[in-house]
Amino acid sequence: NSMPVPEISSRDVRLPELCSIESFKRNNLNQSNWDPSSWTKKSVLQQPTYDDSALLDSVLQKLGDQPPLVTNWEIERLKGQLADAASGKAFLLQGGDCCESFDDCRSDRIEAKLKLLLQMSLVMIHGLQKPVIRVGRIAGQYAKPRSSDDETRGELTLPSYRGDIVNSLEFDPESRRNRPKLMLQAYANSVASLNYLRALTEGGFADLHHPDLWELDFVSRSSRADEYHQMVQGIDRSLRFLDSIGAASDDDLSRVDFYTSHEALLLPYEQALTRRAISRDRYYNLGTHFPWIGDRTRQIDGGHVEYFRGIGNPIGIKVGPSMQTGELIELLDLLDPDHEPGRITLICRFGADKINDSLPGIIQAVAATDHTVLWSVDPMHGNTVKTDAGIKTRHFDQILDELRRSFAIHADHGSHVGGVHLELTGSNVTECVGGAGGLSATDLSRAYETNVDPRLNYEQAMEIAFSIADGNL
Ligand code: PEP
Ligand code: MN
Repeated sequence: NSMPVPEISSRDVRLPELCSIESFKRNNLNQSNWDPSSWTKKSVLQQPTYDDSALLDSVLQKLGDQPPLVTNWEIERLKGQLADAASGKAFLLQGGDCCESFDDCRSDRIEAKLKLLLQMSLVMIHGLQKPVIRVGRIAGQYAKPRSSDDETRGELTLPSYRGDIVNSLEFDPESRRNRPKLMLQAYANSVASLNYLRALTEGGFADLHHPDLWELDFVSRSSRADEYHQMVQGIDRSLRFLDSIGAASDDDLSRVDFYTSHEALLLPYEQALTRRAISRDRYYNLGTHFPWIGDRTRQIDGGHVEYFRGIGNPIGIKVGPSMQTGELIELLDLLDPDHEPGRITLICRFGADKINDSLPGIIQAVAATDHTVLWSVDPMHGNTVKTDAGIKTRHFDQILDELRRSFAIHADHGSHVGGVHLELTGSNVTECVGGAGGLSATDLSRAYETNVDPRLNYEQAMEIAFSIADGNL
């Protein structure tokens, strides 16, 4: 009288979950001539050269044997949520360091970044009245593109710093040497960071009912203090209401979805973490949920586009002022041949002074295709300037200005902004000038900690969240 045991043959497991023969054929067609290493046959920009190829091979072999960081079902869930953002039902909040350093892999820094992103998301959910998808530039954002291969200081010229996954920031020959083993360290730090993020977002940390977690003194100093005070009170009232009906003790309210992203720049590393999901008959980058292509490596016939073509993840494409509309359409056809909802996020980063010239044409060109994209704004990378003292910074007002213009231009074209992409950190750094705290160029030296680009600090980032939330940028 025993229960029948279901038989699972290897054939069952390998059958694609998508049952339509049409889509199965399409997948196979698209994936023909593609495998995780096919990018190596193309020209590939921004890659380090390694002098010990035997060591490189053994590192990549080892990486390829490690377990992945994320799963394909988490990735597919995110893709579904991004499709909601593309159609206006949700909003994407993506943020974190320009460049994580190995030193950042510490509990206090991870907690501070997560706390900031969670609080920003709560403010935005309240103001926009829609779900906010939280994605960190975290747990793998270790590789950086550089405008020059070398850096010269005085008499000495050394290779540029390309991120802790490639070499080290200190300016001496050994630090600047490209070392394959740093990829193993990057993997280990990504695993440790993500493990802690998962633990924090599963339990009490995500429960933001405790007002002592909020540091909102700056709200009073903002030029929009009244509006922001009202918003804070509104959030407080909503949380109290949930408490009073007992909803807050519900497990679902103390855990949140949190996803990871990074620029998939260092292709040997990305390839080693690319795995085939047997149940879907599809490859995924399982080193992160949401990889993006940088503005410098999006050439149609380049190695990066070739790599991204074959993975099933949702992907971001940075779109800067040099992007031609024809080029963008070709990219969409190559990277989104199946018109898959949630597949493509265009992360626009023109600069406050260029956006009026660039964005309208791009919106019109995409609207004339049958691709649906999620429009996100990166108001950081087109607004980088140097102070008189030669320090890289960004002006809070210009960041806000690019955001404001983006929302307005989209509205004029019957389109909408569905997300924002920010460089920020949870601590009290002084890297961007302006904001309610009134940071000036002379304050920058006080706590300037970034390895590459200047980030918004806690107060500046919260202020951005408030201005998006009150819909009145
Ligand atoms: C970045 O996001 O840090 C970056 C290098 O951006 P972009 O590719 O847009 O210049
Ligand atoms: Mn950057």
